[in-house]
Amino acid sequence: MIDTDAVVIGAGPVGLFQVFQLGLLGLEAHVVDVLPEPGGQCVALYPDKPIYDVPGIPACTGRELAQLLLDQAAPFLPRDAQGHSTRLHLGQQVAHLSRDDCGHFKLTTQQGRAFRARAVFIAAGAGAFVPRSLNLPGLGDCTNVHHHLPDAGQPAPWAGQHVVVCGGGDEALSTVVALSADTPERRPAQITLQHRRDVFQAEPELDAAVRLLMRDGAVRLQTGLPDALDTDGGRVTALRLLGSDGQPVSLPLDHLLIRQGLSPRLGPLAEWGLTLERKQVSVSSATFESNLPGVYAVGDVNTYPGKKRLLLCGFHEATLAAHAASAALNPDAPQHLLYTTTSPLLKQRLGRA
Ligand SMILES: Cc1cc2nc3c(=O)[nH]c(=O)nc-3n(C[C@H](O)[C@H](O)[C@H](O)COP(=O)(O)OP(=O)(O)OC[C@H]3O[C@@H](n4cnc5c(N)ncnc54)[C@H](O)[C@@H]3O)c2cc1C
Repeated sequence: MIDTDAVVIGAGPVGLFQVFQLGLLGLEAHVVDVLPEPGGQCVALYPDKPIYDVPGIPACTGRELAQLLLDQAAPFLPRDAQGHSTRLHLGQQVAHLSRDDCGHFKLTTQQGRAFRARAVFIAAGAGAFVPRSLNLPGLGDCTNVHHHLPDAGQPAPWAGQHVVVCGGGDEALSTVVALSADTPERRPAQITLQHRRDVFQAEPELDAAVRLLMRDGAVRLQTGLPDALDTDGGRVTALRLLGSDGQPVSLPLDHLLIRQGLSPRLGPLAEWGLTLERKQVSVSSATFESNLPGVYAVGDVNTYPGKKRLLLCGFHEATLAAHAASAALNPDAPQHLLYTTTSPLLKQRLGRA
């Protein structure tokens, strides 16, 4: 059980800024995200696209913004000897929220991590980003089905074997390009791209790169609709497809890599007793507190009159929510507004004294 002042659900841009604002006010926060990387939509949906409307930053990509926010929050996300942030919990989906008799919140993740906190900040965007999968019975139990690429430096499970990559969008095509260009020790012996038809929904450069690989025989395309699996000993041995001519096709494989993008799921949040309006958490626009005292909602996940789903609005909400929580958690302490430029206390908290 990790004991802390606050848990922030979601390490998207607003969740990261929430950690920063809480840190300035002297509140320790742990931030949890189901994705393997922080940055939310900025990294998962538009890492290389430019953003032009963040105040003071004329232009930066989604990934650059996430890195800037991480750098800014770094004083409040300390690292251990291995360089891992001890307060940033990735690959963890918050599943349960309850409150004990002392008023502390207990949060647990699907993966088994548990937190006790005095305040909760839901910065969950449109929900937890989970990979879109294939709707085939038995798929989830197979050990050679993957939705993510291994981290750099980690062994590739498909090295020297036949990998089938499912999908026809940017994610699938960039995966195919990356696999073909991987080092000899990590590269698959055979790559098949599996998509329902010979037309992709990807950036023109990616489309061209994959067609070049197909022309050179480095990648094979297998069209058809996935229909069933052949399995043996907990592994998929072949994907069964329905061809465009209505004929069944069997595609033998060693590993199945499903790269069909991410889809947000509000999931368990919907069962926590929060007042929701069209799948968004209703909040006060003064404090960003929900109907559950001590539970705040910021960023794309919330709604209130005049709400705009913009980064700037999420940053404003995180600031006011932090101040409201600080006042609620320390009712007897004076709540002076301090400036980072002039306050020795804030400079000390930022490690810049
Ligand atoms: C293509 C595109 C372009 C955009 N361009 C701009 C722009 O130019 N300017 C602008 O201001 N805005 C832009 N936006 C909108 C902006 O990206 C969003 O407003 C912003 O990402 C919202 O941030 P957030 O932190 O609230 O949510 P998100 O970025 O959605 O992050 C939420 C995070 O919470 C995680 N999460 C959710 N539930 C759980 C759970 N139960 N457990 C663990 N983790 C969970 C998710 O995995 C996700 O990582 C754009 C959006 C898109 C899609």
